[in-house]
Amino acid sequence: MRPKPVIALAFTLACAFVAAVAGAAEPSQRTPAQVKARELYARVIAMPTSKGNDQVPAMAEYLAGEFRAAGFPAADITVVPFEGEGDRTASLVVRYRGKGKGEKPILLMAHMDVVVAKREDWERDPFTLVEENGYFFGRGTSDDKQGVIAIASTFLRLKAEGFVPRRDLILFFSGDEETAQATTVNIVRQHRDLIDAEFALNADAGGGALDANGKPLYFSLQTAEKTYADFAVTAKNPGGHSSLPRDDNAIYDLAASLLRIREHKFPVTWNDTTLAALKQAGAMTSGELGAALGKFAADPRDAMAIAVISKDPVYTGQIRTTCVATMLTGGHAQNALPQSASANVNCRIFPGVKIEDVRLALQQAAGSGVEVKLTGEPMSSDASPLRPDVTKAVTRAVQAIRPGVPVVPAQSNGATDGLVFRSAGIPTYGVDGNFMKPEDDFAHGLNERLSVRSFYDSLEFWHVLVTELAGRRR
Ligand SMILES: [Zn+2]
Repeated sequence: MRPKPVIALAFTLACAFVAAVAGAAEPSQRTPAQVKARELYARVIAMPTSKGNDQVPAMAEYLAGEFRAAGFPAADITVVPFEGEGDRTASLVVRYRGKGKGEKPILLMAHMDVVVAKREDWERDPFTLVEENGYFFGRGTSDDKQGVIAIASTFLRLKAEGFVPRRDLILFFSGDEETAQATTVNIVRQHRDLIDAEFALNADAGGGALDANGKPLYFSLQTAEKTYADFAVTAKNPGGHSSLPRDDNAIYDLAASLLRIREHKFPVTWNDTTLAALKQAGAMTSGELGAALGKFAADPRDAMAIAVISKDPVYTGQIRTTCVATMLTGGHAQNALPQSASANVNCRIFPGVKIEDVRLALQQAAGSGVEVKLTGEPMSSDASPLRPDVTKAVTRAVQAIRPGVPVVPAQSNGATDGLVFRSAGIPTYGVDGNFMKPEDDFAHGLNERLSVRSFYDSLEFWHVLVTELAGRRR
């Protein structure tokens, strides 16, 4: 997924940054690297890599062949097959050997799988790359085959330029990010030697925001993701005949506990990233909310600011863990007292907060008449600390394609493969090189698209980013 940078949702002021760069070159003026990237893009869009189609291994093999043809030694290219539930998939790892000056590698990541797309629902064939009216259309054009192609093309272009990085670079493409994320867990747990890195750059998160007129606003450098966790809240009762009602009742007990959960507010929490992001959002938001965001960024204990932000659905999750009831089941017959009633409570947990601590808080709020149990196996991670070298390189890469646009740290409410890397102790930075208007974000939806300019700009973005981080020291 490409979680929306949270401040993209709420700007209300026109911004002063002016787009000063001309759009992508005319087709006839494209460089060989750009032509090659477009060719790869069309080939991988044509592979329906959603779960159950078993096409990810073919995509990994196709890309592996391109790396071999470009001169990467076969021993440095690894396709790791993976058999998941109803999913024969794979991941791809390519090592770009550096001068080996003792620095740990930098990892660049994206995902090869896509969300299901039904031909009959789309205006165009989702598995044919169509260029029309300044956009590329097709499933994965934005999420995340553009990320795959931007990183792969950067490796191919640098190789063709004779570039030797100061330290090893590792490319990692996962094969089931949209569903189980098992290829990423597998690579991190079973093949750590292949992907061990000082830090990772993730093409599937962060990225640039445009306003509705196409004016660039800011670039999100994503350093943290909230943990997704579901809890089952269950009330039990011996039940009986409904003509013999009693005061204790599983449905009433559950309902009462859910009302108490609704009232429970998790403590206000912050980190360097959220303070910086909320400061920027405050500057771009008018009225009471904008003032509150700015005040909170200056003093996260400001009670008035907290009260205003807590009422806003977009921002309340930026200052605390949030939990909300999302599903309900209960009873077994219309004329019977319920023996059980259960609700799903979905939580987005602030980075650094333990899942068990959230469960305990919910249990305490709900009361002893119900049981609160974690479902599934969620993974939690801390925020990645801001690194001056990464921030500086990202800023240069952004300036190369959109001069004057600020880089702002961001924390997502959703999760990507970055979560798995962070939880394995590899700091991860979401740096999707695309700039997008809110109304162009069709990731996961119908008629997914990416602007042609953004596709070519992103190639340049990654080239600058990698040479800044792994080229000769300035
Ligand atoms: Zn994605």
